[in-house]
Amino acid sequence: MREFGTTVFAEMTALAARTGSINLGQGFPDTDGPPAMLARAAEALRGGWNQYPPGPGVPELRQAVSWHRMDRYGLAYDPDGEILVTVGATEAISAAVLALCEPGDEVILFEPYYDSYSASVALAGAVRKPVPLRIAEGRFTFDPDELRAAAGPRTRAILVNSPHNPTGTVFTREELAVIADLCRERDIIAITDEVYEHLTFDDVTHIPLATFEGMRERTVMISSAGKTFSVTGWKTGFVCAPRPLITAVQTVKQFLTFTASAPWQLAVAYALREELGWVEGLRAELEGKRDRLMEGLAKAGFEVFRPAGTYFVQTDIRPLGFDDGLTLTRRLPELAGVVAIPTQVFYDHPAIGRHLVRFAFCKRDEVISEAVSRLLSGLR
Ligand code: PMP
Ligand code: GLN
Repeated sequence: MREFGTTVFAEMTALAARTGSINLGQGFPDTDGPPAMLARAAEALRGGWNQYPPGPGVPELRQAVSWHRMDRYGLAYDPDGEILVTVGATEAISAAVLALCEPGDEVILFEPYYDSYSASVALAGAVRKPVPLRIAEGRFTFDPDELRAAAGPRTRAILVNSPHNPTGTVFTREELAVIADLCRERDIIAITDEVYEHLTFDDVTHIPLATFEGMRERTVMISSAGKTFSVTGWKTGFVCAPRPLITAVQTVKQFLTFTASAPWQLAVAYALREELGWVEGLRAELEGKRDRLMEGLAKAGFEVFRPAGTYFVQTDIRPLGFDDGLTLTRRLPELAGVVAIPTQVFYDHPAIGRHLVRFAFCKRDEVISEAVSRLLSGLR
C-alpha cells in the first residue's frame, strides 16, 4: 500500500486548517442534516442502542432501504438477505471488491476515479483497468469503444460511479446501456457507487444501473446517508444485491468492522422514510450553490464545466496561465486563501487531468461568496 500515502482530502483539509484558508477541497457540507433525524440519533443514544447491532444492520434500516429502492426505482430487495448496512460507502466498496475479486482479476473503472477505488483494488491484489472520461460538449463522458477495449478475459468487475465524483457527470440512459451491454456480454459484475443519487440538477435524474435488463442479478448497488442527509461523519452506508453477492460481501465485511454503529442506523431509517422532502430542498439549494460558484470561478478566469450532480465543479486552469493543478492547488492558500483539489491525483494517467482542479460547492452561500471574492483578487 506504500504508493497510497495520505489521501489528498486529508492533505488538503490539513492545508486549509494550517493556512486559515476556505476549504473548497474535501466534500463535506458546513450545515447539518434534518433536525428530526438528528433528534432520532440522540434518542437512540440515550435509549440504549449502544451495543453491537446485528451484522447485516438493524432491521429498521434494512426495511427502510428496501422500501426506498422500491418506491424510487421500482427495485425489489429483500431486507432479510439482500441488504447489508456498512460503515459508509467506503467500506461497502472495499468489501465488495475484496469479496468478488481474486488476485490478478481486472477491475474496470472510469478515471478520474474516487481515490478509495484504486486502494480497494490494490487491497484485493486485483488490477485496475482505467477508462478515461473526456470532455465532449461541455461534459465528461467515455468512448464506448475504449470501454469495450478495456474488457478482457480477466475482467471480473466494473466500478461505476454516477453521479460521478470528481467530474459531476451523471451518466445518461444511453451511457448506462453501453455499460450494461458490456456487463451482460462479458459476464462482468457491476459495483455501483450511487452516494450522490439524490443530488442531481437541471432536471437530470439518476438511473441505477440495476434497473437495466439483466443487471439486477449482477449488480452490487451501493449508497450511503452521508451526502443524502448531510451527515458525512456518520459513515452509514448500505448495499443492495442478490443473495449470493450480499453473502460474499457480508463475509468480508464482518471481518473489517463486523457491524456498523447502531444509533445512526435508526436515525437514517427514519430519514429515508420521512425526510426525502428535506433532501429535495437540499438538492435545490445545492443547484443554486453550484451556479453561484460556477459564475464566480468563471469571473476569476477559470474555464468551468457544468456538473449535472454531486458537490463538485471541475475547472480548467489554463486560461489563468497555469498548467499544473497540483502546483496551483499547493499555492492557492498563499495566493487567495482558498483550498481546492488537483484532479490529476484521481488518474492512472495524471497527464490527462493535469490542468484540472476540483472545487466543492456544498458550503454556505456566504462561504462561497467569500471564496470567490478571494479568488477574484488573488488570481488577478
Ligand atoms: N464514493 C464517492 C463517489 C464519494 O464521493 C464518497 C465520499 N464522499 C464516498 C464514496 C464515501 O462515502 P462514505 O462517506 O459513505 O464512506
Ligand atoms: N468524498 C469526499 C470528497 O470527494 C471526501 C471523502 C474523504 O475525505 N475521503 O471530497
